[in-house]
Order: sequence, then structure tokens, then C-alpha cells
Amino acid sequence: MEAVNILKKQKLFFINHKGLNLERKTINSMVLIYCDNMHFNTKTLCNDCQELSNYALQRLMKCPFGENKPTCENCEIHCYKLDMRKKIKKVMKYSGPRMAYKHPILTILHLIRNMNLYAKTSKFNYSKGKN
Ligand SMILES: [Zn+2]
Repeated sequence: MEAVNILKKQKLFFINHKGLNLERKTINSMVLIYCDNMHFNTKTLCNDCQELSNYALQRLMKCPFGENKPTCENCEIHCYKLDMRKKIKKVMKYSGPRMAYKHPILTILHLIRNMNLYAKTSKFNYSKGKN
């Protein structure tokens, strides 16, 4: 029962945070590709990768930037604890280049979001500099 409530809460959270939901999908897909190729698990994740995926989800839900969160590779905070950061870096390095043909639409949306946020933050810095 408890687990069901947590899942419901997560679902609701990501319905209300579309940008973060995109991040969630991107990270999930990357971990899937990585586990599939490196740990030979098709469709499901090994315990290690499942743990990493859950951890990433929790971090996303707690991200202080909320909807304005920069994509993780451009974020300044680096909120992951050290061992998880090492793992996710490996995953991103491996799966990043493979995302473009496995999940082209997701990749494009991710890039667009990246550019929009970049434009937003540069504008923000500019006006801040002027004052
Ligand atoms: Zn794995």
C-alpha cells in the first residue's frame, strides 16, 4: 500500500513538472541502454542500475531549481553523492551518444530544453549585470 502511494505521488509530481518529466525519461532511457549493453539486461534493470535510476528520480523530485532546472550536465549544484555521481557520469558518457538514434525525439526535446534554459539564464545574467 505504501509503495503504491509513493508511485502515485511520483506520477502526480511529474504530471505537474513537464520539464523534469523529460529529464526523468532521458535519464531512464540512458540507464536502460547502459544496463542493456554493459550488464546484459534487456527490458529490466539490474539491482545496481535500478538503484541508480531510483536515486536519480529522487534527486529530480528534490531539485531546488524545479521546472527551471538546467539539464543535469549543465547544472552547477552537483547534488549527487560521490559514488552515484561516478555511476551516472559513466552512464551518460556511454549512453549519451547512443541516445540520438535510440530515442531521437527525446534527444531533440532534451536539446531544445537545454537551449531554452540557456537563453533564459543568459538573459537573466545580463539584466542582473545591468542593475
Ligand atoms: Zn545494470
